[in-house]
Amino acid sequence: MQRDDMIKQQIIKIKKEKSIFIIAHYYQRTEVQEIADFIGDSYAMALAAKKAKEEKILVAGVDFMAETAAILCPEKTVLSPEPMATCPMADSVDIDEIKKYREENPETLIVSYVNTPASVKAVSDVCVTSSNAEKIASKLPPNRPILFIPDKNLADFIEKKIGRNMEKYPSFCPVHARVKTESIRFCKEKYPQAEVLVHPECAPEVVKMADYTGSTGGILNYATHSPKKSFIIGTEEGIFYALRQKRPDAEFILAVDELICPNMKSITLEKILYSLENEETVIKVPEDIREKAFNALDKMIRLSQ
Ligand code: SF4
Repeated sequence: MQRDDMIKQQIIKIKKEKSIFIIAHYYQRTEVQEIADFIGDSYAMALAAKKAKEEKILVAGVDFMAETAAILCPEKTVLSPEPMATCPMADSVDIDEIKKYREENPETLIVSYVNTPASVKAVSDVCVTSSNAEKIASKLPPNRPILFIPDKNLADFIEKKIGRNMEKYPSFCPVHARVKTESIRFCKEKYPQAEVLVHPECAPEVVKMADYTGSTGGILNYATHSPKKSFIIGTEEGIFYALRQKRPDAEFILAVDELICPNMKSITLEKILYSLENEETVIKVPEDIREKAFNALDKMIRLSQ
């Protein structure tokens, strides 16, 4: 038996014995997705954590995902197999700057992408994910200015969708920024029959060239129902695991070689096994921050209905 298979068997045994629910993001390694009880994008992961009947949850994703589960489910134990797996875009937000902005601009609604630390969510009016940002932004009062934190590319995409200007925090995802117009043009020339599906964290000029732009869940849904059999994918390569399951008949081409988030990939089977065995690392958010961050996340869930 291969080493990975042995670890997988141990993980499956322990999670069952200890009744620990494993939630993984689509960008996780294939072998991690294989042992997960639930796989989804950030929004689906948040809902799955909330709905889980188990009292213990292990989140295979970057730190803000485990934090989100801890904010939404204070009664549950939330484990992270690798608390050092961070998101550089989330970490780029200067919380002092946002607090100052909040004081100076009380009339502005602060809309935070879920890819933010708990402290930023705590000073936000509402959170969004890439799968519900358009719906939520379109429901916000039209007479209030909006500051969107931190992804300027997602903000640009939403602005165009809802026809409303927003002030944008000047950050972006370094992984999706690797998808360039030249790479899309090259792929389209090589695979002229293929549809181009990209994530809204890609640059606006890339989004303009796409047949479809949406969250990882949205891309998966689009490819599942499209009559086409060939797709150029502009998001992290971990999504190929789910794409191939949904469309075993189709061909998927990554828009750029090695479009990989190293932070997502820092979670391994070994780390998950250690985390389950030792019930480490427990993610906790200080209660004063958690309560405020909960309000922004809860509003997101209500406005997504
Ligand atoms: S893919 Fe981008 S936004 Fe997602 S965790 Fe990695 S760096 Fe952050």
